[in-house]
Amino acid sequence: MTTQTATKYEAVIGLEVHIQLNTHSKMFCGCDRQYFDAEPNSHVCAVCLGMPGMLPVINQEAVTSTLLAGLALGCDIPAYAKFDRKNYPYPDLMKGYQISQFDQPFCLNGVLEIDVEGERRLVHLERIHLEEDTARLLHRDNGIETYSLLDVNRAGSPLMELVTKPDMHTALEAHAFLRTLRQVMRYLRIADADMDKGGMRCDANVSLRPIGQEELGRKVEVKNMNSFRSVQRAIEFEIERQTKMLDAGERIVQETRGYVDATGETVSQRSKEEASDYRYFPEPDLPPLHIAPETIEALRAKLPELPAARLDRFQSQYGLSAAEARILSDSRSDGDAFEEAVGIAGAEHAKTVAHWFTGDVAKHLNTLGAEAELSDTKVTARHIGELVRLAASNAVTAATAKEVLDVAFETGELPEAIVDARGLRQVTDAGAIDEVAQKAIAANPKAVEDYRAGKQAAIGFLVGQVMREMKGRADANTATETLRRHLDAATG
Ligand code: ADP
Ligand code: ZN
Ligand code: MG
Repeated sequence: MTTQTATKYEAVIGLEVHIQLNTHSKMFCGCDRQYFDAEPNSHVCAVCLGMPGMLPVINQEAVTSTLLAGLALGCDIPAYAKFDRKNYPYPDLMKGYQISQFDQPFCLNGVLEIDVEGERRLVHLERIHLEEDTARLLHRDNGIETYSLLDVNRAGSPLMELVTKPDMHTALEAHAFLRTLRQVMRYLRIADADMDKGGMRCDANVSLRPIGQEELGRKVEVKNMNSFRSVQRAIEFEIERQTKMLDAGERIVQETRGYVDATGETVSQRSKEEASDYRYFPEPDLPPLHIAPETIEALRAKLPELPAARLDRFQSQYGLSAAEARILSDSRSDGDAFEEAVGIAGAEHAKTVAHWFTGDVAKHLNTLGAEAELSDTKVTARHIGELVRLAASNAVTAATAKEVLDVAFETGELPEAIVDARGLRQVTDAGAIDEVAQKAIAANPKAVEDYRAGKQAAIGFLVGQVMREMKGRADANTATETLRRHLDAATG
C-alpha cells in the first residue's frame, strides 16, 4: 500500500470465526468427538450419518462451553435460545441441512480487548452461536481420474461460530484478535483452537470506504486461511487489491474469494448474486431452550481468571515487568505453574522464580518446540520452587542451580535429591575452603607475586582455582576472604 492511497481509504474488517469445542461427545449424538487419529468413518452413528428418522439430542457440555465463552467475552445471554435448520445441498452435509442457530443464538454482543503493538483496542462482537460441523471431503487425483472421499467422523462435532462487528481496520488487528481469542478459548479449556488443525477457522470480511465516510463500503468475504499469518496476508492483499480497483474507478463486487497460500493472493470463488437462500426454520426435532439466570450466575462463578486480568495482576502483585508477565500469563497452565512455584519458594522470591521461568526453563522448552509447555516435561512447578528456595538459602551456588535444573529436565528428580545424590551442596565450611585456598597459594607463585605487586585482579584467578578444585561448590565469598587473609598476612 502506498502512502498516497493509504490516506484515501479506511479498511473495515469483520471476522467470522468457527471454533471446534473439545467436548467428550458430538453435538447431537453420543459418538466420541475425539476422532482425530481414527480410521475414517469409524466415529459415526445413525444420527451423525443423517439416517432418516433419527432424532438429535442436545449436548449439554457444548451449550455450557458456548455460554462460558459468551460470559468470558462479555456477551449478553438471552433467556431463550433455539436451534434452526440451515438448508443447503452439499456432499459433506449428511442430512441436507445443518442444525445451527439463526435468530436466537446463545450469546449476543460482547467485546474482546486486544493489544496491537502495545496499544489496547476493543473489538466488539455481534454474536456467538452453536452448530454442528460437516463431514470432510478429501479430493484425490490418482493420475487417471479425480475423485472424492468422504470422512464422516467430523460430521456432527460441536462448532461454535463467533461473528465480530465490522470493528477492525488493519490486518494486524485481525491477527491480534485471533491470537487473543485463541488464548481465551484455551484459558477456558473449551477448545484447542489450532488453526493449522482446523480447530479454529476464520473468514475475513473486508471493505474500504473513503476516510470520513460513515457508510460502509461493499465487502468481500475471504476464505481458506489456515494460519494467523495467512489471515493477515489475505487481508493485506485484499486491502491493496480493492485500493487499486477504487483508484481505477472500478466497482467492488460483493463476492466470496479464496486465499491461495502459495501466492499470497485471493481469487474469486462466487459472487453474492449466486448466494444461496438457506430457508432457515426452527429445528422441529429440538426444544427451544430457556437459560435460567441461576444457570448463568453459576457459570459466571466458574470462569477462571482471564489472560488480560492475569497479565495486570502478575505485574502489580509480583512486581514483574510487562514482558515477563506476558510470557508467564501466555498459557493458563504456565501461569498456574509460576504461582505454584512462588508458593514454594516464598513470595519474596517471585522475581527470581519469574527469571527462572523466562530464562533457563524457557530455554529448555524451546528445544522441545515452539508450543512446548512445562507439562510436556518431567519438570514441575515444585521443581522450580524448590530450586529457587535452595539457591536463595545458599545451599547451592548459582552455577550449580543451573546444573540441577538440567538434571531435573533429564530425570525428573527433585532438586534436593539431585543435590544430595551428587554431592552438589555448596561448601561453606571454612576449614575445607581454607585447606584448598592454601594449596592454591602454594601452587601458584606467579599469581601470588602479582597480587603482592598490587594487581588486585590476581585474586580472581586464585578464586577460580579454588572453585575448580571444589567443582564450583565453594561459597565464593568465603573463598575470596580466606585467600585475602592468607595473602595479606604473609605480606605483613
Ligand atoms: P452477510 O449477510 O454477508 O453474512 P453479515 O452482516 O452477517 O454479512 O456480516 C458478516 C461479517 O461481515 C461480520 O463479521 C460483519 O462484521 C462483517 N461485515 C459486514 N459488513 C461489512 C463491511 N461492509 N465491511 C467489512 N466487514 C463487514
Ligand atoms: Zn454419531
Ligand atoms: Mg451472515
